Amino acid sequence: MSQSDAPAISIRNLVKRYAPAGNGEGKLALKGVSLDVPQGQIFGLLGPNGAGKSTMINIMAGMVRKTSGTVSIWGFDIDHDRRNASRAIGIVPQEIVFDPFFTPYEVLENTAGLYGIPKAERLSEQLLADVHLSDKAKAYARTLSGGMKRRLLVAKAMVHQPPVLVLDEPTAGVDVELRRQLWELVKRLNDEGVTVVLTTHYLEEAEELCDRIAIINHGELIANKPTRELVDMAREKIVVLTLEKPIDTLPGHPAFVKCAAVAPDIIEITYDKDKTNAGEILGAVQAQGMAIVDVTTREADLEDVFVSLTTQAQTT
Ligand code: ADP
Ligand code: MG
Repeated sequence: MSQSDAPAISIRNLVKRYAPAGNGEGKLALKGVSLDVPQGQIFGLLGPNGAGKSTMINIMAGMVRKTSGTVSIWGFDIDHDRRNASRAIGIVPQEIVFDPFFTPYEVLENTAGLYGIPKAERLSEQLLADVHLSDKAKAYARTLSGGMKRRLLVAKAMVHQPPVLVLDEPTAGVDVELRRQLWELVKRLNDEGVTVVLTTHYLEEAEELCDRIAIINHGELIANKPTRELVDMAREKIVVLTLEKPIDTLPGHPAFVKCAAVAPDIIEITYDKDKTNAGEILGAVQAQGMAIVDVTTREADLEDVFVSLTTQAQTT
């Protein structure tokens, strides 16, 4: 399947209101989200629990019916061209569900059958090798570890070789080693040309893996930028100073956003990098008679941006 340089996924004014459980209005989970996922990227959809990430993905997967708005996948509108849209996307859901009595090989063969892929064109063995599960091909799914099941789900999502792969919280509750393995797998698929969308609430994961990050909070898109730019939005920077002698009184200066002692002879000064720089900060400390023996600076990270964006969104 090929498509020019149109977005891999295009979402416009997407609204989802869940049916109310009892009386009342029902939860408004998506409040008119518009975004494009460029082809060839690893795109991160970031947001706290309950933000609406799974709702968005389940709409793409055809598992949740949207209230209004449009979604197209690889140029195919999910309302008017559901079949082609489904063929263009592979989805790894947040919840792991398998029939425990099928083997990984059978899981992939059955899925291929559902897509109507002739036996001779199926890739089950190759896919199992890709996710390092060849030696488990004939084991029952129920005997697989959590990590193996996740990898099997990725293979299952790739059975029909879609150009777009979406993973919903692939590493939630997963140990560090398995997380690394999944990251490697995602990077490898992306290197092979697959556009990847993943949701996560781990900022570190988004920062390391994603080319571009969209942040949603309470069903609204509050940011959508290249990862680097988003991280650069953190205006504050931190300089850690080791002083020659322990101090009783912290230095003060109008340019300091915050000053704190982390040890009797080590202080951390936070400053706004748009307004001043590390040189001025050091000068201000020295001018107060304190000799500096060591300096390190720490960039604010995505976490700082995330916190500042999500709190802004609540107060406006
Ligand atoms: P996320 O994946 O970002 O954690 P979800 O999309 O799962 O968020 O949920 C968004 C909001 O919609 C939450 O408030 C959640 O409780 C609500 N929600 C999710 N699924 C349903 C459902 N089937 N019925 C009613 N409300 C739901
Ligand atoms: Mg979710």
